[in-house]
Amino acid sequence: MAVQQDILMAVRTTNKPSLSLANIERSYDDFSCSTEELRVEKRSDSVPWSSYVLCGVLGVKEHGRLSSVAGLQMAVSGTIPPSSGLSSSSALVCAAALATAHANKVTMTKSEIASMCARAERHIGTEGGGMDQAICFLAKKGTAKLIEFSPLRAQDVRLPPGAVFVIANSLAEKNKAASSDFNCRVMECRLATQLLAKSRGLEWSKYRRLGDLQKELRLQFDEMARLVRSVLHEEPYSKKEICVELGITESQLDEITLSPNTRHIAEFRPYQRALHVFQEAGRVFAFRAVCEAGGEDALSQMGQLMNDSHASCRDLYQCSHELLDTICRLSEGLAYGARLTGAGWGGCAVALVPGERADEYINKLKAEFYARRPNAESLNLDTIVFRTEPGDGAVIFI
Ligand code: ADP
Ligand code: MG
Repeated sequence: MAVQQDILMAVRTTNKPSLSLANIERSYDDFSCSTEELRVEKRSDSVPWSSYVLCGVLGVKEHGRLSSVAGLQMAVSGTIPPSSGLSSSSALVCAAALATAHANKVTMTKSEIASMCARAERHIGTEGGGMDQAICFLAKKGTAKLIEFSPLRAQDVRLPPGAVFVIANSLAEKNKAASSDFNCRVMECRLATQLLAKSRGLEWSKYRRLGDLQKELRLQFDEMARLVRSVLHEEPYSKKEICVELGITESQLDEITLSPNTRHIAEFRPYQRALHVFQEAGRVFAFRAVCEAGGEDALSQMGQLMNDSHASCRDLYQCSHELLDTICRLSEGLAYGARLTGAGWGGCAVALVPGERADEYINKLKAEFYARRPNAESLNLDTIVFRTEPGDGAVIFI
């Protein structure tokens, strides 16, 4: 579901062949470049904010096969906490793409622009999926969405009455493009896919995603989890062992499978990552089934699925953070359940709380978590821990 926080972009076209960006927040430097030289510099240390805007602009240029794009001036103001798992990066990419498409009269369906933005954001260097961009465009006020891919589709999921979601920012920031952690997980899933494919006698190098392999094998999530358990081992795999299993050299593995920023990694855990993916996917559909069935126990069951999800992110996918684990622990007893949201390694937790106890829950976090942070007095807690409900997706104001 989309949160109420957003990126607002004021845009005008100009006659000059240039793209100029300004930000209300002074820490984001002004930027300008010629529209003839649009490119996203691949950097693995710190990524400038303009790169996310360029992803959106370039995505439209490539999709619309435009020889050039109209000159644009853009001013940005955002309220989504950055690098905190609420996908400020995709909000920025999607806003830039929507503005550029509108200015250049490129028309797309919501699903097309969402898929296009998912591809475009990968210019940053992170091999992300497409959930964030999908909800940016397909979100609808009052309903959660079940999002599926290949092809992208989203179905309404009505949440049972009495469900209140509270977002709590752990205040540990993680810029996903500035470390290899995020891509490492993508690669570990790719390695699991290829090792499993090889074990089934398939042409393994053709498979890059666990979901594609599952489709090929026509197995259910629990059957895939069983396959992971029977084929892969729990101990980490060295790069050398993977190469022996796949029958290739390390430089071939770099070329065929790994991203530039993960080629230095010596050990991978395909067993844990793949097991998490299939069990987590199972939980997504279980969550929807509980929402549809309703009943007295629905909210507790949803909460349990969220707790299980957090435990799996922490232990199997290893993308949590001790501050997120603390928030989830403090949620026990008051919330139905809680988990990290977004990519992890910091950022926000989301809790499902009984409506009548939401204030009590927020106050508990304020007293037992935020009051103990080193900079407690300077925190604007209303923007850090708050209730949210499913909001609308991106719109153009003319
Ligand atoms: P998230 O979990 O929020 O998507 P990412 O690490 O993927 O975190 O992206 C965060 C980056 O997005 C920031 O470092 C910044 O470059 C950009 N960003 C987010 N919000 C804004 C904003 N309001 N203005 C400019 N850039 C922003
Ligand atoms: Mg992001």
